[in-house]
Amino acid sequence: MANARLALDDRLYAYLLKSEPPEHEELQKLRERTKRLPEARMQIAPEQGHFLAFLVRLIGARRTLELGTFTGYSALAMALALPADGRVITCDLCETWIDMGRLHWKRAGVDNKIEVKIGPALETLERLERGAAGLFDLAFVDADKEAYDTYYESALRLVRPGGLIVFDNMFRLGRVADPQETDPDPVSVRKLNAKIAGDERVDRVILPIGDGMTLACRRQGP
Ligand code: CA
Repeated sequence: MANARLALDDRLYAYLLKSEPPEHEELQKLRERTKRLPEARMQIAPEQGHFLAFLVRLIGARRTLELGTFTGYSALAMALALPADGRVITCDLCETWIDMGRLHWKRAGVDNKIEVKIGPALETLERLERGAAGLFDLAFVDADKEAYDTYYESALRLVRPGGLIVFDNMFRLGRVADPQETDPDPVSVRKLNAKIAGDERVDRVILPIGDGMTLACRRQGP
């Protein structure tokens, strides 16, 4: 069959999870606890955590940046995949949910690899650009969608040539494909997908994993 496109029904999704390497015990515990929060939909799915960890290992990342910590599942997934001297710098607006993650970071033995920066992301990014431009191997962006383009431009300055920028929620549950959609949130994501598609500064791909992830790899050059 040509051009097969599968919707993941419950049975196939369960098969996918069962066929992946086992989820680390602390990742599983943190995910179960986060699931009980009213904001649980903000957490990435386990196969996305696995994918991030895979990318970290694939490119031999040591320094990773995350925008949008939430309860710390993705930071933990990346930290577990990093070498002993690897670092995750994870940024969020407030501490509200981060304490939930800290316990599991510690129990997993990787709390020393994770550095939390609290405050408006744009201010944190400005500071990082002054001291750490071009020093990151991977940036994972999962924060306020209306600022995604700004985060993209900053992340392009922060990752090294060959470094990866990974965006979550690039389908906005399908809303990006609705031409009638005028909500600034999906409109912003739609614009960024279109911009990245034509951006010669990067190699790029959109993957239908979770709510859609767009990967942009910074090319060599200025
Ligand atoms: Ca997300």
